[in-house]
Amino acid sequence: MKIVNSIKELKAYLAEEKRNNKQVGFVPTMGALHDGHLSLVKCCVENNDVCVVSIFVNPTQFNDKHDLETYPRTLEKDCSLLEPVGCDYVFAPSVEEMYPEPDTRVFDFGLVSAVMEGARRPGHFNGVAQIVSKLFYAVEPDNAYFGEKDFQQIAVIRAMVEQLNIPVNIVACPILREEDGLAMSSRNVRLTPEQRQKAPLIARTLKESTTFAPEKSVQEVIDFVINTINADPVMRVEYYEIVDGYTLKSIQNWSDTTYPIGCITVYCGEVRLIDNMKY
Ligand code: AMP
Repeated sequence: MKIVNSIKELKAYLAEEKRNNKQVGFVPTMGALHDGHLSLVKCCVENNDVCVVSIFVNPTQFNDKHDLETYPRTLEKDCSLLEPVGCDYVFAPSVEEMYPEPDTRVFDFGLVSAVMEGARRPGHFNGVAQIVSKLFYAVEPDNAYFGEKDFQQIAVIRAMVEQLNIPVNIVACPILREEDGLAMSSRNVRLTPEQRQKAPLIARTLKESTTFAPEKSVQEVIDFVINTINADPVMRVEYYEIVDGYTLKSIQNWSDTTYPIGCITVYCGEVRLIDNMKY
C-alpha cells in the first residue's frame, strides 16, 4: 500500500494503472476510520482492480469551527486498518495541496442540497461538492463508494457528477451499525459513557416506527419518532423528515413515493448524530 500526499504523484501512479487497463475504485473519507468506512473499502476492493482511499478533513464543509478543530485525526492508525483490507493507495493531502487557492465555486443542486442538512448546516454541501469534485479530478475513478449513513450526501454527489459531467459511477453502500444499532460514526468517540448508552435509542425508535407504517399516517409516525426520542432528557431531535429517497421531497402520504426514507438528526448532549431508515 502506497501513501501519497501530492496530486501529481497520485496521478502518476494511477496513470500507470490505467495504462494497464486497471479499473480504479475510490473511497473518499475524512479518516478516523471505523468498520463503516472499511465496509466501503472492502466493497471497493472486491469490485475494482485498484482501490484508492482518501483521508482529508475538508475545512470547507465544516460550518462549525469547533467541530473542525476537534475532529479526530488518526492517520497512522487509519493506514494500519486500510492495508489488511486490500487498499492500494492512501491519498492524504494537506489543506494547501487541495486548496492552493481559496475555492470560490458556489454550487446549487436545488432541493437535494437545500433541505434537511442543507438547511441546518449552511455551506456544508457546497464544501462537500468542492472537495469531492477536486478529489474526482485527482483520482478520475471508474467507481466511487459512499455510505448511506450520509443519505443526503449521496443525492448531492449524484447531482454534482451530473451537473459537472464527471464520468464516475456512484455506488451507495448500506449503513454499518454497532451491535446495539447505533450507526457507526467517527463522532461516536465524543459521546460520554452515559450518552453512548443512550444513543441507540435513535436507531431503535426508527426501527420500531417502521413496524407500524403504513397503518399509521406519515405525520403520526413522525410524531412518534420525535416524541419518543425527545422523552429522553439527554436527546434533542433537530429534525425528522420522511422523504422520497430520490428527490428528498417530504412526503405527506405513503402513496407519495415508492422509496420512503426517514432522515433524522439528534443532539445527544453536544454530539450531533445522524441516521436514517427505509420504510
Ligand atoms: P466520513 O469520513 O464521515 O466523511 O465518511 C466517509 C464515508 O464513509 C462516507 O461516504 C460515509 O457515508 C461513509 N460512512 C460513514 N459512516 C458509515 C457507516 N456507519 N456505515 C456506512 N458508511 C459509513
